[in-house]
Amino acid sequence: MGWDFETDPEYQELLDWADEFVREKVEPLDHLFPHLQFVPMTDEMRRIIDPLKDEVRAHGLWATHLGPDLGGQGYGQLKLALLNEILGRSPWASTVFGTQAPDTGNAEIIAHYGTDEQKDRYLQPLLRGEMFSTYSMTEPHAGADPTQFTCRATRDGDEWVINGWKYFSSNAKTASFLIVMCVSNPDVNPYQGMSMFLVPTDTPGVNIVRNVGLYGEPMNEGFHALIHYEDVRVPDDALLGGEGQAFAIAQTRLGGGRIHHGMRTIGLAQRALDMLCERALSRQTQGSLLADKQFVQGYIADSYAQLVQFRLFVLYTAWEIDKYNDYKKVRKDIATAKIVMPTVLHDIAWRAMQVHGALGTTNEMPFFQMIHGAGVMGLADGPTEVHKMTVARQVLRDHRGTDEMFPTQWIPARIEAARETYADVLELEVGNL
Ligand SMILES: Cc1cc2nc3c(=O)[nH]c(=O)nc-3n(C[C@H](O)[C@H](O)[C@H](O)COP(=O)(O)OP(=O)(O)OC[C@H]3O[C@@H](n4cnc5c(N)ncnc54)[C@H](O)[C@@H]3O)c2cc1C
Repeated sequence: MGWDFETDPEYQELLDWADEFVREKVEPLDHLFPHLQFVPMTDEMRRIIDPLKDEVRAHGLWATHLGPDLGGQGYGQLKLALLNEILGRSPWASTVFGTQAPDTGNAEIIAHYGTDEQKDRYLQPLLRGEMFSTYSMTEPHAGADPTQFTCRATRDGDEWVINGWKYFSSNAKTASFLIVMCVSNPDVNPYQGMSMFLVPTDTPGVNIVRNVGLYGEPMNEGFHALIHYEDVRVPDDALLGGEGQAFAIAQTRLGGGRIHHGMRTIGLAQRALDMLCERALSRQTQGSLLADKQFVQGYIADSYAQLVQFRLFVLYTAWEIDKYNDYKKVRKDIATAKIVMPTVLHDIAWRAMQVHGALGTTNEMPFFQMIHGAGVMGLADGPTEVHKMTVARQVLRDHRGTDEMFPTQWIPARIEAARETYADVLELEVGNL
């Protein structure tokens, strides 16, 4: 039997250290430098954050998802999941531990598909935390359906020329390079006609038109760029992987990215549940603690039930990824985790907000940010509806329809079949009576 829900004692020690370190040293960064984890650091920030990264490295927890040849530990996805649920508590934590999106996914695909030169130029500085990167795929007129993309890369001698629009390219304003998905051959099926390019952000023709802000951020001062690529020239060796391989690369990237979001969401939802419980045990009303009211007990029980199911499922999916080492084989479960994630976070954060009364709705508590985060989780890396279609298709693959008049589980037919199966014994018993 191989089922085991325990963590190795040595790794548990590291997790315990990470838990305390994140609470004591990293969570304060969220208040000192809010929303600045993707902005080049000032000298003051470096004096605080560089030693924290060194501590993480000294404990062997830097970029744990990558192999030792790439500066990580090669721990794989399950160990990353256990760590990420701690890191999910704090927006700064992933940066301090070298596992921040979108750089993790970008690093994974360069590690997987990049040439040695591309790895030296982009991957190593990315892993050292010296640069940021952007994944530029969604277009203003098409996000959920990549077959509608029109951003075009045309070959010109030994160069490629890129023209088109991209939207919601996160962190482009601070990224050193962009990974851009383009139509490189419009004459074939889109699944074979798109390619990925590594484009330095300062290449002439990369025009960041607007930095779209999420709700609550100042207009045009957000982190999600609308980019107009106008005659952007890159050499042949800017191609990542082979020509026409963009869809395969995108699946590698998004598969990892989606489950990493799930891992961090566990931490965030746990934080909301912790706050819910603290409030329930602190606030008295109408003669008793909130914790003694059945409605509030219901909130706590429902939240725990949702969280524990989600957590076990994410850990199982991470285990599957390590086992098969092939995102395609785990696509159904990654998509299932992606579907469930926004609801789990939304529901628990909403209940925690409700139990905090008016205070819960203010910008002095983090609940609206969490609820907004749940909305984002239902869109980033693909809308929930599209993932539901993926799951349904994959589930249906394991089933067959019937040509019979009634379903195969129709009880009258099952009774008849059961009688036939045990006809000998039944006849004997009748005969013995
Ligand atoms: C915070 C954030 C960060 C992001 N970062 C990046 C990034 O770094 N790089 C990048 O390339 N993109 C990024 N995105 C974009 C994200 O991938 C897209 O938002 C997503 O793919 C959906 O595309 P869309 O917004 O154009 O929605 P649309 O494609 O217009 O879909 C809108 C809605 O239509 C419905 N819908 C769509 N398709 C179907 C269907 N087949 N069946 C039923 N209903 C459907 C769903 O309700 C869906 O939410 C980010 C998005 C967010 C919110």
